[in-house]
Amino acid sequence: MSNPKNPLSDPKTWAPETQLVHGGGKRSQFNETSEAIFLNSGYAYPSSQHAEDLFLHKIEGHNYSRFANPTLDMFQDRMALLEGAEAARAFSTGMSAVTNAVMSQVRAGDHIVAARALFGGCRYVVEDLMPRFGVASTLVDGRDPANFERAMQKNTKLVFIETPTNPTLELVDIAAVAAIARAHGAKLIVDNVFATPLFQHPLALGADLVTYSATKHIDGQGRTLGGVVLGSKALIEADVHTLLRQTGPSLSPFNAWVLLKGLETLPLRVNQMTASAAKVADFLADHPKIARVSYPFHKSHPQYDLARRQMSSGSTLIAIEVKGGREAAFKLSDSLSVILISNNLGDAKSLITHPGTTTHARFTEAVRLESGITPGLLRLSVGLENADDLIADLGYGLEQI
Ligand SMILES: *Cc1c(COP(=O)(O)O)cnc(C)c1O
Repeated sequence: MSNPKNPLSDPKTWAPETQLVHGGGKRSQFNETSEAIFLNSGYAYPSSQHAEDLFLHKIEGHNYSRFANPTLDMFQDRMALLEGAEAARAFSTGMSAVTNAVMSQVRAGDHIVAARALFGGCRYVVEDLMPRFGVASTLVDGRDPANFERAMQKNTKLVFIETPTNPTLELVDIAAVAAIARAHGAKLIVDNVFATPLFQHPLALGADLVTYSATKHIDGQGRTLGGVVLGSKALIEADVHTLLRQTGPSLSPFNAWVLLKGLETLPLRVNQMTASAAKVADFLADHPKIARVSYPFHKSHPQYDLARRQMSSGSTLIAIEVKGGREAAFKLSDSLSVILISNNLGDAKSLITHPGTTTHARFTEAVRLESGITPGLLRLSVGLENADDLIADLGYGLEQI
């Protein structure tokens, strides 16, 4: 960065670890090393003419922090570099990012096809919210791409998937679904939270927009909420930016700074957590009190080949089916001392949750079972503790059943 003649000064040539420390960085006149927090809402202009030119987009610059702020620029540019996307926009939460991405691509009379195994809020957006505004939706079993093909209609403008899915860690074949969407003139949005931007690249597999809850691995330390939408300049700067600018689910510059700092250590944290998750999955898969473990890079995963094809690593989440239903699942969770009971994920602290009575409690039993959310299902987010301590904790908990 300091020497523009050096070919290595192009951040696109850097490995992710380097991009995440330096990418998108901008220094003020004070030459600070760490990124500055621009905790301001507005900007003062040198002249009225300057203000007019700015609002007419004749010159570049910032005019209001609802839609542009230097700390957010740094976070967005760093995320875009990592994702290999042309552009990115930051949001106050993962859900505002997803809602914007969906709403930016449809209007009344359109139709959405989505996989039914979705994060609770995302399912609400496509199944309940959008139909209230005249956008119908069809939910399908995402494990077989043929189900998407069958659900496509003449007015289908959008396909929405999440893979691996929450909470059962099923996979959707991104390249296959992207080809179906494209053949029908529909856009594909992939919620890539579980795989993280390090282990799966939906844009390269044919997706049009990628969304993240930055609350999860990107912060990864339980401090702040945030969200990001990434894609081509055309989709982001026209559709996504316009909706963000006019409806205002903007990220606070302070939270953007927290997320920038989170990105610096993302590979260190996520690689360590993933190594531990693989060890923990091996331990659980062999345990007599566990009926089934779902971890994308464990050989027992029904879509193991697909996992190997579209992910470069198994990531940090494990779904486990405890023998003995809800009572046994509660007993295990309640007996743990290192692993905390919490519905967050991607955190430095290992977290366990019982989806059937928490994140998916609002659904009927029938809908839960259809999505694989059985009474004995627990979702484990593996954190930064020593893997042997986690295995000892789970071993003790399982003995109590
Ligand atoms: C957490 C999460 C969201 C929502 O993000 P928030 O930051 O909590 O609003 C969306 N999708 C997935 C897969 C998530 O895990």
